[in-house]
Amino acid sequence: MESLRILYKIGPGPSSSHTIGPMRASESFLSQYSKADSYAVELWGSLAATGKGHLTDYIIKKVFEDAGRSIDVEFKMDYVHPFHPNGMLFKAYQDGQEIGREQIFSIGGGNLAHEGESSTAEVSTYPYQNFAEIHQDAQEKGVELWQLAVEYEGQEILTFLRDNVWNVMKEAVHSGLAADEVLPGSLQLKRRAKKFFAKSQEQSGEVRELGELFAYGLAVSEENAAGSFIITAPTCGAAGLLPGLFYFLQKKHQFSDEEMAKALAVAGMFGIVIKKNASVSGAEAGCQAEIGSAASMAAAGATYLLKGTIAQQEYAAEIGMEHHLGLTCDPVDGLVQIPCIERNAVGARRAYDAAYYALFAEDGHRVSFDTVVATMWETGLNLRPEYRETSQGGLAKAFLRGS
Ligand code: SF4
Repeated sequence: MESLRILYKIGPGPSSSHTIGPMRASESFLSQYSKADSYAVELWGSLAATGKGHLTDYIIKKVFEDAGRSIDVEFKMDYVHPFHPNGMLFKAYQDGQEIGREQIFSIGGGNLAHEGESSTAEVSTYPYQNFAEIHQDAQEKGVELWQLAVEYEGQEILTFLRDNVWNVMKEAVHSGLAADEVLPGSLQLKRRAKKFFAKSQEQSGEVRELGELFAYGLAVSEENAAGSFIITAPTCGAAGLLPGLFYFLQKKHQFSDEEMAKALAVAGMFGIVIKKNASVSGAEAGCQAEIGSAASMAAAGATYLLKGTIAQQEYAAEIGMEHHLGLTCDPVDGLVQIPCIERNAVGARRAYDAAYYALFAEDGHRVSFDTVVATMWETGLNLRPEYRETSQGGLAKAFLRGS
């Protein structure tokens, strides 16, 4: 299983597979062929179908422009590579002759892979195959999940999670709450986080808290939609859910930043299981793989913060995923806005509920986290292509035809 440093990546929104992945692929190709005099890239499958709205061409051109180069971007709408729906073919030229090409896939969460590989990173930081093995190891050692992260990634992982992840997440909440301009793109969607927060402050008790929780989730998701820097948790499209709930819990219970770093490690242990045994890519497995995964991670981390056992953390993560099974990826006009932003805010509440549900249940649970992950993956593979980040079905279709 991969490092938490790979799971939690900082990068530009609005999509880890459509912006962070292509950005990293561009940087890598450019460094291999730095002497070429011209470049071109073909975008395939979902990258072609929703790349415009997801700013894929913008970020690729920006990488080349920042290096004083230019690149032609071609959207090949009618081609989907059998290996993965997010394919790119980079080409480099010298004096009109092709001197190199690279086929590379953006497989979700900003990760890249060549055909047949699981990830170009190909690192295995943890020795586990599934969550059952993680749980067993923690039980035998008598430790919390975050302590396993320290065992395999060193004490510095907590510093990384506090300074490079949690701090960036908090900044995204703050900047999202302060902004009120219209989001970029054809929908001319107005931001809501600032207004939600202001309205929440007119309320008291549970309603006030509910408004605050929604506002925090909206704030980060709107920052993502605006192309600002956020943390993949586990993706850009689902980047608001976990920080929204964690920020709410830190404020409510005054948890230290060190404790939040441990909660991020706990959440991350569930995220890396999903990435190993299923997918966090909406183009591969629908929105259940993004928002469902984020809800699992957030619910588990929240349960840890609220003093739940590892069994309860697992139960919360299972609920977080189970109640998003079948959720399709259908971003309207290819933008990570409708339904994505709202799904993050509502998902933060669902994850909070999942944590408390698990805390109430002291008699264990029947469906394991590994089972729900396998179920999500099987469901995702059975989703028709219209429901996997192509903007050809679901809300993406119904909204534009005005029904
Ligand atoms: S619908 Fe879900 S999976 Fe699809 S782009 Fe939006 S957040 Fe990502």
